[in-house]
Amino acid sequence: MTVTDARTGLDDELITISDPRTGEPVGSLPAASATAVADACRRSEAAFPGWARVAPSERGAALAEAATVLEKHADELAALTQRETGKPYDDARGGVLAGVGTLRQYAELGPLHQGERLAGAVGAVDYSVPEPRGVVAVITPWNDPVAIACGLVGAALVTGNTVLHKPSERCPHVGERLGELLEPVFPADVLRTLTGGGETGAALVSQPHVAMIAHVGSTATGERISRAAALTGAHVIRENGGNDALIVDAGVDAAWAASQAALGSFANSGQICTSVERIFVHDDIADAFIAALCAEARERNDGGELGPLVDERMRREVHEQLTASVAEGARVLVGGEIPSGPGSAYPATVVVDCAADLPLFGEETFGPIAAVQRVASFEDALAAASADRYGLAATVLTDSLAHAERAAAELPVGTVKVNAVFGGAPGGSAEPRGASGTGFGYGPRLLDEMTRLKVVHMGRAEVAS
Ligand code: NAD
Repeated sequence: MTVTDARTGLDDELITISDPRTGEPVGSLPAASATAVADACRRSEAAFPGWARVAPSERGAALAEAATVLEKHADELAALTQRETGKPYDDARGGVLAGVGTLRQYAELGPLHQGERLAGAVGAVDYSVPEPRGVVAVITPWNDPVAIACGLVGAALVTGNTVLHKPSERCPHVGERLGELLEPVFPADVLRTLTGGGETGAALVSQPHVAMIAHVGSTATGERISRAAALTGAHVIRENGGNDALIVDAGVDAAWAASQAALGSFANSGQICTSVERIFVHDDIADAFIAALCAEARERNDGGELGPLVDERMRREVHEQLTASVAEGARVLVGGEIPSGPGSAYPATVVVDCAADLPLFGEETFGPIAAVQRVASFEDALAAASADRYGLAATVLTDSLAHAERAAAELPVGTVKVNAVFGGAPGGSAEPRGASGTGFGYGPRLLDEMTRLKVVHMGRAEVAS
């Protein structure tokens, strides 16, 4: 169906979504057409020189104001996120507040972002200056929609870029509302939201005047974006899928290890980029660990603790990965069946005997499935965990300092965690590897990604006598 967008006056396709908890319709929004995208891009380009000239301290102040506006609407955005993605309300609200915190962090860090003084010739001054890139396309997913958008949008704006944000078609009302709240804080066309799906995104990344693309989403999409950007020359950062390993070493408490595994596999119903996807447990504690993990899964299922998967399409994909793996020898100990009733719920599931070439181990699974393989030694676990095309993060649970050090040194991923599946100090930045993407997607180093360094060599003029 085609509708006329009130803001642009252009004809757009309509996207319609339903509440994954109940299957009830949430509503419909227009998806920006290629013409609307091109128009927004021209406006963004025209707004760029003016915004780039605004003092960094003023840009930081605008970001701080945006954070205050967002904070005032945290409940509304959390409720919308829950309705569109099924994320439990407290988690959804936590995501909005994380977005508020990120905007405040970049409001402070932006004005401090600087180049370097270089050691040049005597009497000369050499220095480098970070300059904004221009129009930045920010393309975001649905699984933590506000926090992820605020990080990328905030870092791009505070460094003097103009931004076109394309939120996920799986939570278009969250994206649209975020835009309605944040856009008026900035001068006209400095920040614009383009609602739509893959086609809108594809139109955006092929615009010749988009100087940079920041994509958070699946690896398949990220690869498409890199191909499009190869033709335009846009700088690309990609924070894509993960297939994170959890190594459970001999000697650790089995119940504690199982609680960590359950947290990593089942939080947000397994729909986190750094969810635990592949568990390698040492034979010495495997029986006790698997029994405790099954108990964790049953407790969640009996308590109705898990939110649904984002939609029916996601549930079908997750279940197909499971059934294909079972057909090749994996065994389901808990869960693994699609429940009756409305919505797209999926139970916490424990699967054992997962060989490396099964779909559950070979590809990212965006659902609450704890997939386990027993290993005879820590060396075997390290080798199996490393044999993967993704490279986002990995965790090792161990009481051996030597094993922790080996894991940190040898795992080919952007983030290694020891004895905690989630967590990290504020102020950190990490760079994914392999199929998980490229570039720094958060933290202080994201400011470097959003800018280009210019080196200035200033010699001394000879003065006429
Ligand atoms: P997705 O790639 O399907 O969608 C993300 C965004 O890309 C959406 O806005 C979508 O419309 C857009 N898009 C789709 N096709 C496009 C195209 N051809 N050109 C331009 N844009 C296009 O991902 P998703 O399903 O929304 O999100 C889940 C994925 O995101 C998982 O793989 C997850 O691991 C990953 N993720 C990664 C991180 C990270 O930091 N590494 C964080 C969150 C999510």
